[in-house]
Amino acid sequence: MTLDETHGADASSWVQGADGHPDFPVQNLPLGLFSDGDSGPRAGVAIGDMVFDLAGWLSACDDEADRLVAGLCFDRLNDLLAAGPQLRAMLRRRLFALFTDPLRRAEAEPFLVPAGEAQMHLPCEVRDYTDFYAGIHHASKVGRLFRPDSPLLPNYRHLPIGYHGRSSSVVVSGTPVERPHGQLPGADGPRFGPTERLDHEFELAIWVGTPNVLGSPVSIGSAASHIAGFGLLNDWSARDIQAWEYQPLGPFLAKSFATSVSPWIVTPEALLPFRCPAFPRAGDDPQPLAYLLDRQDQESGGLALTLETFLQTAFMREKGLPPHRISIASARHLWWTPAQLLAHHTSNGCNLRAGDLLGTGTISGPEVGSEGSMLELTEGGARPLDLPGGERRTFLEAGDRITLKASASRAGHATIGLGTCTGEIIG
Ligand code: CA
Repeated sequence: MTLDETHGADASSWVQGADGHPDFPVQNLPLGLFSDGDSGPRAGVAIGDMVFDLAGWLSACDDEADRLVAGLCFDRLNDLLAAGPQLRAMLRRRLFALFTDPLRRAEAEPFLVPAGEAQMHLPCEVRDYTDFYAGIHHASKVGRLFRPDSPLLPNYRHLPIGYHGRSSSVVVSGTPVERPHGQLPGADGPRFGPTERLDHEFELAIWVGTPNVLGSPVSIGSAASHIAGFGLLNDWSARDIQAWEYQPLGPFLAKSFATSVSPWIVTPEALLPFRCPAFPRAGDDPQPLAYLLDRQDQESGGLALTLETFLQTAFMREKGLPPHRISIASARHLWWTPAQLLAHHTSNGCNLRAGDLLGTGTISGPEVGSEGSMLELTEGGARPLDLPGGERRTFLEAGDRITLKASASRAGHATIGLGTCTGEIIG
């Protein structure tokens, strides 16, 4: 993968609103699944404030190969992601040419749908979802709250910690989140009721593309080529349920009631200018074992994305107050690269399938104001957040709306973003 004309900062699109769009200029071209008034779910591409009907355009092409690709573009994107990086890169170059050539406007315009008229769906049928724990500052801060004497367990710096999540409750951005009930710990023993410590977790979503065969681990050197793209993920968490149930087997019902993902899959090709070195190990930190160590991955396997979390309460909406930014952090704070997470996942022979979803784990920075969850922002509920309008929050309340955003900026390149991932608490 190399930089090409599709990354040119000077490229201009005839699609209205594309040039300078904070998320979706012509240099991005993320994939998603949308429907509108008269047609069912099919592949689309975000450009400016429009959704381009990729499935419809390919179906209308004269070329037989295009119609074969169009066959991968309906109902879910699993098969399109499975086709791998070469097809993805070819589509990217062709779409870039289409949207930057004013002479081809008439060809493309019938397939442009205003984003406001497009209903976005979960891009893939998520058959497996794995959540990692790669944000080292999050792991340290949360560890300190749960285990003041040993915040980071001895294995943390050696291997990617993860657990198998629940795929059936993965929902697309905008889906309301019902407050879950569960066993809550108390001095007189547990009781059953609605969680009183509902939280969000800012994570990145990693969408698996090329699958691997059961029994065939993916090497660290080729792991990046199995990743079809990235998005935003909110791992909603009930902290009281979690604290009571997590030992000895880890998260269960405190997490499985809902996981929100953003609708757009931003490809590795689009993010190529925004890669950065892997997390720098200090002198006394262990180096990754050989199966997790690759020179190119160490040099450029990280992601230089700025991550922002916004909170807007029902009261703030009533008063016309905009969403309030409660956190800003960077994806540079991931101890493991996405390729390391994928290689580790398959290192025992476990097969990943196209459309499988990996969460990176909550990403927080070391500074105050960079925390990716309420648990950290309020130090376990001990230090409430003050909000514009005079309200205070320890954990999330009914009507609270959490929005995650991520953007990539670098001198000499057009800024691109991952879009938004939003969810409002019901009850
Ligand atoms: Ca998580």
